This record gives sequence, structure tokens and C-alpha cells, in this order.
Amino acid sequence: MKIYLATGNAHKKQEMQAILSKHTIVIPSDEGIEFDPIEDGSSFYENSMIKAKSLYEIVKCPVIADDSGICVDALNGIPGIYSSRYCGPDFPQGRPDGSVISQQDKNTLLINQLNAVLSLGKVNTCSFRNGPRSAHYTCSMVMYCGTDRFFSAQETMEGKLVERIEDAAGTGGFGYDPVFFLPEFNKTAAEISAEQKNKISHRGKAARALLKIID
Ligand code: IMP
Repeated sequence: MKIYLATGNAHKKQEMQAILSKHTIVIPSDEGIEFDPIEDGSSFYENSMIKAKSLYEIVKCPVIADDSGICVDALNGIPGIYSSRYCGPDFPQGRPDGSVISQQDKNTLLINQLNAVLSLGKVNTCSFRNGPRSAHYTCSMVMYCGTDRFFSAQETMEGKLVERIEDAAGTGGFGYDPVFFLPEFNKTAAEISAEQKNKISHRGKAARALLKIID
């Protein structure tokens, strides 16, 4: 089956094509379709639906869309849906003028923000899965087949932030992966292989949940 993937990211296309290998994954740019919806939802799920619906309106064919981000437990889930726009504690949802900073600066600011909050000793961290520095990636994914027919899955990958930016490691993955430590591997998400990450990642798990429904 031909399935459109609501993204401009060729890396995501490759990832999804590997998981949905029986199907043909097409992204808007493959067909010269301009696609840049305004993601103004208040949750991962809402944003994935915004992306899915807006591409469906154009192609009128089944669409898969996802929205993801990193959530730090001691920061009440910051930066969450604003992960790509995060600019530190003053602008956790992004700067008003829309200007962005490098991923290296985002990683540094996020670690510093967590360290500052933890140093105050006011957060009750005992229920956190991987200790005070716990964090997780979240991915909400939807398979949208029409106005009244869609399937959604939301998954996480659990880990924790490294202690200092100097502890960042690895060249794989993308985004916050060099500072996202996976206790079960004793490595950051940027140090494991793409295959290993796919098996345990928020996106991989959500995609496989949808694949079962599609099949
Ligand atoms: P989106 O789902 O393409 O909107 O991604 C949102 C942002 O979340 C990315 O720009 C990254 O900053 C972050 N993110 C989501 N998934 C990952 C991941 O697997 N590794 C690292 N960063 C991620």
C-alpha cells in the first residue's frame, strides 16, 4: 500500500520504510508537494493529528504522521513538544522572534537547566524511573485514513540526561541523542547503532504498534 509520511525529513522516511517494508512510503517532497503545517497543538498527539490531517487534505490517501520530543522529568516534561525550538530556561518554548540556536547549545542549556533545578533540592525525584536525571523521548504517531478513521499510538524511550555537557558522546542519531544516556546499554543514544535504536526507540515502538493495525 502507498502511505504518505507527513515529514520533510528523509531520515524519518528511511526509518519508516525499514519498519513498514511491505509498503511504499512517500514523503511530500518526493512528489513536489509543499508541506509545512503550523504545529500549534498542545500535545504530541494533537500535533501529529495536525500534520496528518493537513497532508491528507492534499493527497486524499492514507497518511502517517508523528510528533516527538524529549521530556525531562525534573523539569515537568520540558522541553516536550517544543524540543526543536527550545532555547533554555528563558525561552523553553522558543524565542519570540522564532530564531533558533544550535543543537549543541540546546544540549548545554538543557543540562544546565536540569542541574540548576536539582541543585535547589526541591524536586521529589523518588518516583522517577532512572533517578533525578530521568528523561524520556515521546513519540505520538497516527495513521490517518480519513476524517472518521484513524489509528494512533504513543510510545516512549526511557533514559536520563548526562551530568555535564563534557559527558556528551557519540556521533549517531540526531538531536539530543549525545546527551541522552541509556542505562541498559551504558551508552548514550548517539553511541548505539541505528538498528539498536530502532528496536527500543519511541518512534520504532509506535511505528510497530501501527504496523500491527495496518497488517
Ligand atoms: P519532530 O518529531 O520531527 O517534530 O522532532 C522534534 C524534536 O524532538 C527534534 O528536532 C529533536 O530535537 C527531538 N527528538 C525527537 N526524537 C528524537 C530522537 O530520537 N533523538 C534526538 N532528538 C529527538
